[in-house]
Amino acid sequence: MILIVGGAGYIGSHLVKELINKERVVVLDNLSAGHRESIDERAIFIKGDLGKVGDVESVFQRYRIKAVMHFAAHSLVEESSQNPYKYYENNVAATLNLLNMMNKYEVNNFIFSSTAAIYGIPEEEIIMESSSTIPINPYGRSKLMIEQILADFHQAYGLNHIILRYFNAAGAYETGEIGESHDPETHLIPIILQYLLGKREKVSIFGTDYPTYDGTCIRDYIHVTDLANAHIKTLDALMTGKKSAGIYNLGNGVGYSVKEVIETCEKVTGIKVNAEHAARREGDPARLIASSKKIGDELGWKAERDLEEMIKSAWKWHERQIY
Ligand code: UDP
Repeated sequence: MILIVGGAGYIGSHLVKELINKERVVVLDNLSAGHRESIDERAIFIKGDLGKVGDVESVFQRYRIKAVMHFAAHSLVEESSQNPYKYYENNVAATLNLLNMMNKYEVNNFIFSSTAAIYGIPEEEIIMESSSTIPINPYGRSKLMIEQILADFHQAYGLNHIILRYFNAAGAYETGEIGESHDPETHLIPIILQYLLGKREKVSIFGTDYPTYDGTCIRDYIHVTDLANAHIKTLDALMTGKKSAGIYNLGNGVGYSVKEVIETCEKVTGIKVNAEHAARREGDPARLIASSKKIGDELGWKAERDLEEMIKSAWKWHERQIY
């Protein structure tokens, strides 16, 4: 049995849908941001809080867990600056509770969802895992703290783990059954698609004076199904003893500016976006592009879906979005 913490959320629910074809899965989620409807019906679902000792312990008592994947985190940069306690409480303290329970029940395999936000403002054009990690907001710091705790647990308790640093997750399940649904929505692609469906008044481009080729921020977008597949490869490597204590970037290795994302949405949907120029959003680095060479070399994973595919699948989801 594999425990997926946060399996009702955007990335977790896509992973569950892939993993359930190979493994038995139990999802622990408090549904604070996730959706019950997103969890594949073949998975066992337990509603519970990561920060509550009793909630977490009862899962380990009831099921023989072989490995844990941890997707349950708050992940908004701006909110983390305004309310750091919320981030340190959930992303750090609650995760520590989970790790402690794993230790108690001798569950020794852990896959951790980390983020490009730990790199802060990168010096290199293409970010390597060895690039310096100086996060510039509490969200990034909360994730880096867990990365450091995992290194210590590996050294002291022999915890097998792999850290996956996501760049910008996008897209939806190919059938359009599940997809991205945040409230409030802050992410660029869903905002554009909601605007195109008449669900929002405007699209704002946050900053047009960045030192990039068109003045807007550049990000490395990665399809959520590619992310899910990376987790399955990682789990395999961990369970077969092929790899532990690895850290990997997950991206496409290609950057798109905000303006290019808008143009691709126009191309996919055939509808024009009249975006307005707005001030920069606090905490946004100009450019974040991953090198994913390391996971390619060591685990044989690479991203297979491009930005157009991400937007096509997201559009399918948004057109029928029911929750
Ligand atoms: N962005 C934007 N308008 C929006 C939402 C986002 O211009 O309404 C920009 C944002 O400044 C960033 C990029 O789009 O440069 C991706 O932002 P998103 O919130 O999707 O992901 P993040 O990079 O924060 O994880």
